[in-house]
Amino acid sequence: MRRTKIVATIGPASGQPGTLLKMIDAGMDVARIGLAHGSLDQHLEMYRTIRAAADERGRNIGILADLPGPKVRCAPFPEGGVFFPDGESVRFLAGEQTSSTEVISTDYEHLTDDIEIGDVLALGDGNVTFVVEAKSGDELTARVLRGSRVQGRPGLQVPSDRLRISTPTADDIRFADAFIEAGVDMLAISFVRSAHDIRSLGVEPAPRGPLVIAKIETRAAVENLEGIIGASGAVMVARGDLGVDYPIAELPHLQKHIIKRCIARGLPVITATQMLESMVSAPTPTRAEASDVANAVFDGTSSVMLSGETAIGVDPVNSVAVMAEITAYADSEFNHDEWAEEVNQVREVDETGGHAGPRTTDAITMAAVKVADSVGAQAIVCLSRTGYTVRSVSRFRPRVPILAFSPDARAVRQLSLSWGSAAVQNPDKPTTRETIDDALRLARQEFGLHNGDPVVVISGQSMSARATDTIRVMTL
Ligand code: PGA
Ligand code: MN
Repeated sequence: MRRTKIVATIGPASGQPGTLLKMIDAGMDVARIGLAHGSLDQHLEMYRTIRAAADERGRNIGILADLPGPKVRCAPFPEGGVFFPDGESVRFLAGEQTSSTEVISTDYEHLTDDIEIGDVLALGDGNVTFVVEAKSGDELTARVLRGSRVQGRPGLQVPSDRLRISTPTADDIRFADAFIEAGVDMLAISFVRSAHDIRSLGVEPAPRGPLVIAKIETRAAVENLEGIIGASGAVMVARGDLGVDYPIAELPHLQKHIIKRCIARGLPVITATQMLESMVSAPTPTRAEASDVANAVFDGTSSVMLSGETAIGVDPVNSVAVMAEITAYADSEFNHDEWAEEVNQVREVDETGGHAGPRTTDAITMAAVKVADSVGAQAIVCLSRTGYTVRSVSRFRPRVPILAFSPDARAVRQLSLSWGSAAVQNPDKPTTRETIDDALRLARQEFGLHNGDPVVVISGQSMSARATDTIRVMTL
């Protein structure tokens, strides 16, 4: 069983029902809909198509709607794209219908108010960079620092502390409302700068509301990481934009740091962008990409993400299959003992709720992983209403599968992001003991466990318990 989860972005190359079914078969755990391009109606239609494909396969695929945030966009470049040579001078302004090599037009009306001489601007994922040399009236003059080809309607990266538009934007809130209404499992917020940005989206705590994923892609987000983690349900290391806001040499270390802080506090974390980038057009990844994916697993990422590879690439199904192959092998080489020891040292419990629940769950889940090892258990079975207990177990990266049972369908789908877990919906029975018996029956039916297999079962002593407080060693 593969432990690291796969998020795949759905786009023109992958939105057809037949392709979605094949991507699910190839190992897609979470489908991501990027809301930066296209209309809300198209996105909602895509949402329903993905749900239908998941239902057809009987799989609890999570659906993630990714809010665009305050992205500055350029007016389209001519068909076929243009080339910016190094050292060339370019003007930036706002409001024109098209862009060219001489004039780049953006939809950011505060451009000349907010940008200062000396600022570095970048197009797309930073392939072309400019340094601003002059400001006059409503335009900026900049010089190409690093030239390359640009096409379509790329985003313009403005240093994040200059940007006055805050996240979530009015559009983000409109999109979020529509997707919450539709029942989406996860919402990602782009260009987050503080915990306040997350809270102003105002969603109900998961699983009543979607799991809110903070995309860490600005300097401010890295500086306010602890507060953001406290306000979020999960985190994405959004390397595309993060690698523009920081020098590229710092990116691998930021990735490790962000992942570690998330795991310490029990949040799932997605590593994203350019993971198998060359597979946008090629049938195999580069050696460096294969290493990057495996190393993200060793860094402790819960999930890895495919972007252009599956949204616009030549073979989305193959991209998922290659991702599944590399992560499954990395999982098999994972050093579980060393990891559990490290998490043991860095783990932190959020007690802001003012009751002992989180501390109890923390202690029980840590013990469950040790007990499972000692008794040679074949699985850790979790009864978890919200998924919190499952995420808590997942931190320790146990050797055996984490089988999760929740009465809540959305909690089950939200676990599609969590490392090492397989979740099924299972309604509560009148007593905990009956719910456990039911779960063990499903463990045999759905997960191929056998009579006589030892398992560790963790649960709340009563259905009203606010903590996972009971650990049992049982035999199927
Ligand atoms: P994006 O976010 O693909 O929506 O820009 C991910 C990233 O910046 O890496
Ligand atoms: Mn981004």
